Amino acid sequence: IAAATVVPFDGEGALGDGRPLALLANVGGAADAVNAAAAHADGVGLFRTEFCFLDRVDAPSVEEQVAAYRGVLAAFPGRKVVVRTLDAGSDKPLPFANADHEGNPALGVRGLRIARRTPALLDDQLRALAQATEAESAQVEVMAPMVATVEEARDFADRARAAGLSRVGIMIETPSAALLAAELFEIVDFVSLGTNDLAQYTLAADRLLSELGDLNDPWQPAVLRLIGMVGEAGRAAGKAVGVCGEAGGDPALAPVLIGLGVTSLSMTPRSLGRVAAAVAEVTEDDCRRAAHAVLATGTAAEARAAASAVLPGRG
Ligand code: PEP
Ligand code: MG
Repeated sequence: IAAATVVPFDGEGALGDGRPLALLANVGGAADAVNAAAAHADGVGLFRTEFCFLDRVDAPSVEEQVAAYRGVLAAFPGRKVVVRTLDAGSDKPLPFANADHEGNPALGVRGLRIARRTPALLDDQLRALAQATEAESAQVEVMAPMVATVEEARDFADRARAAGLSRVGIMIETPSAALLAAELFEIVDFVSLGTNDLAQYTLAADRLLSELGDLNDPWQPAVLRLIGMVGEAGRAAGKAVGVCGEAGGDPALAPVLIGLGVTSLSMTPRSLGRVAAAVAEVTEDDCRRAAHAVLATGTAAEARAAASAVLPGRG
């Protein structure tokens, strides 16, 4: 299927052997959420809350935040909505959250790290999200971006639970978090792999430089091995492992991710149909064989070829 073609999605994500697979949407606000619901997404796997406040000079009030979050939750009554706390900084600086200048913003005070400087910003957001959750029927889960250590995860989980939020997770976007997955699963209820940043930080290549696109590639074996470690830890802990980076919308990669232990995929809504079609062609066994094959490769090209050779209809 040509990459530009939008394949319709009927809302039923499942493998060829019938195992259901949640296919979720990435959204940045209420309008996106309405579109995602119309595209039959099962729920939201990534709500990028910073997108609601990109034009703000001052921090939004709790009331303004409640309204913004309710707009997204209302589009998915009774469904899962994973809300990410502000991922300000680096490629998405917010004037009210970030310092004026940093030498290496991708390695600076971004995402959860902002709470070191201004914990009230995070606590207000969690309070607003708890209020929005009470007012709507969506099954809200909250997660933090840019976590690198066990202490950060513990601090975030404590704050989120103290605010009254019951399902708490973190994004796995740093090699450190992937390597510590087993310890992190002792603290959180779920994780979501942010493969865009995980590739950026694993290959040490700025994700904004198209010149380095070959390095910022989730098929890089180092990235796949880290994903596999997280998948293993998730299986052992009996906890959910999502993918919400661009990799989640790659139909060729989806069976590999499932084989590596990923339990849900979140993507831009226009990718839902193509990913659903790709996973409907494979069994859980196919996925495991594809994962096994890519883990034995040393280059991204070899990983792609190894998956194609194993999966039905692609070899
Ligand atoms: C990611 O890093 O893969 C991700 C989903 O987060 P963002 O693209 O918003 O940094
Ligand atoms: Mg990210």
